[in-house]
Amino acid sequence: PRDGLERELERLDGAPYGRYRGLAGAWRLGAGRTLRLVRAQADPFAPPGRVALRIDGREAGFDPELWATPVRRRALAGYLVRCAAREARGERAYHLDAGGQEVLDRSSCTVGADGSVTLRLGVSLPGPRRRIDGREAWRLLGPGLTRLADRALRAGALEAARVREFVETVEDAAALRAALPGLGLVGFVADGALLPRRSGADDRPARGAGVVPFRSPEELRVTVTLPNAGEVTGMGVPEGVTLIVGGGFHGKSTLLRALEAGVWDHVPGDGRERVAARADTVKLRAEDGRRVERVDLHAFVDHLPGGADTTDFSTDNASGSTSQAASLCEAVEAGARVLLIDEDTAATNLMIRDARMQALVAKEREPLTPLVDSVRSLHRDHGVSTVLVMGGSGDYLDVADRVIMMDAYRPADATARAREVAAVPTGRRAEAESFPGVVHRRPDPASLDATARGRTRIRSRGTDYLVFGEHEVDLRAVEQLTDGPQVTGVGLAVELLVRRGHLDGRRTLAEALDLLEADLAGPEGVAALLSVHDEDFAVPRRYEVAAAVNRLRALRVLR
Ligand code: ADP
Ligand code: MG
Repeated sequence: PRDGLERELERLDGAPYGRYRGLAGAWRLGAGRTLRLVRAQADPFAPPGRVALRIDGREAGFDPELWATPVRRRALAGYLVRCAAREARGERAYHLDAGGQEVLDRSSCTVGADGSVTLRLGVSLPGPRRRIDGREAWRLLGPGLTRLADRALRAGALEAARVREFVETVEDAAALRAALPGLGLVGFVADGALLPRRSGADDRPARGAGVVPFRSPEELRVTVTLPNAGEVTGMGVPEGVTLIVGGGFHGKSTLLRALEAGVWDHVPGDGRERVAARADTVKLRAEDGRRVERVDLHAFVDHLPGGADTTDFSTDNASGSTSQAASLCEAVEAGARVLLIDEDTAATNLMIRDARMQALVAKEREPLTPLVDSVRSLHRDHGVSTVLVMGGSGDYLDVADRVIMMDAYRPADATARAREVAAVPTGRRAEAESFPGVVHRRPDPASLDATARGRTRIRSRGTDYLVFGEHEVDLRAVEQLTDGPQVTGVGLAVELLVRRGHLDGRRTLAEALDLLEADLAGPEGVAALLSVHDEDFAVPRRYEVAAAVNRLRALRVLR
């Protein structure tokens, strides 16, 4: 690192704006602090420049207990970046990504294995009349950033009890999730959890006297032992086929959404701190209009009127049922072992076909085989569990291992009663014996091109769209994405799949994702994605990366 950033900025005062670029590189700010100007902004109206401020472990001074493991480092970084964002609020030139209710590995703050802390943020470099304002630039990059970081670190030190709570909460959630397979569970909802959110656009917990804390039914009550909280009771959602039933507005979708979000760790006070789903849980939904590239769908779709081969099916405009069938097969291909489906967003004709419709429309005239006929085999033969919200049709009572009834936001075990009801035959005939499994595909890496006008272009538009080279990938139906920066992380990960040669035209998508997952595990994941581009991002899961690949309209699968 060089010394004398202040002097250098003084010297450049009044120089053309473009000369900020000459400052790129590392600068010593004294006392164990290094500022790196990663990228200067091209002109005053371009996206902000990127800087990284690193504070030595000794200078940061946290109790080594707080950064002893990768999970604790992620949590400590999550705490610090929230403090820093609070401190940065009054300063419009700083752009710091603090994240939402989830605690993810993020580029905006990382804690090293040596206890060092690095903050990465955007800084709008001042440029009145397209000239360098040396004094203001120094204020922002020197004393301003130093104060910001010092205050964040001091908050971390002063609020020792809160830092510890934050770190221990995240550690417990991660431990809970990791314990699920050993307990034969796909999900867990702790007693006392608060599931409803403030609104569809506000992920913070709902407030007020009307919020009913979660309380597990005795039959499904499980006790788990967490590293910090000790023994915790709650509802275990077992492997197999689980049905969530109950009247409208009784809290079915809210429970399922909590499980969806249970693949992430949450901040203290979120209400879902001890709600966990297995890491290989994927939410599915219908998504008409999406593209499908060479997926074997014949388990769900066969004998199309046009005669298309559904063992190798492509379309630029999938129907609701076809899109959901494709998403299911793709999720299993990517490695999902738990599927979540809500009737509110599912394609009815893919879910059910009742006795009367079977009587009216001959099987030869119906290309669709409903999921109700393969959901058991998915678990029995392929180890894929399903949790399904279904208040509108009883056909799933025949195939469910467990039935959870929501009644005024309180779950009850309705399995025995459901068996009695299902004992009365409906005359419905099963339309499939088993789920045949998925066909693994080999994507063509050349079709995953992130360049636009000669440069790598990867950006997010909220959680809805990923801009990838010349393409815009519609991710609105990929519901477990947490925020815009995570969508950017997905784009960078797709690029990494190609750059590192994981997708080489020979490997299957699942094999390439195995390699990517190893790259992205732990805090090194941030470094791996930074090697593609320095940006605000959160490290994604393999399932969302696969979802983006599958929705890229340029994707080609090799024969
Ligand atoms: P369903 O899917 O059964 O129709 P929802 O899950 O959509 O019901 O819930 C209906 C409404 O009840 C939503 O506005 C939701 O926020 C609210 N709600 C859900 N769970 C609770 C709870 N435990 N306490 C208070 N309100 C809740
Ligand atoms: Mg619902």
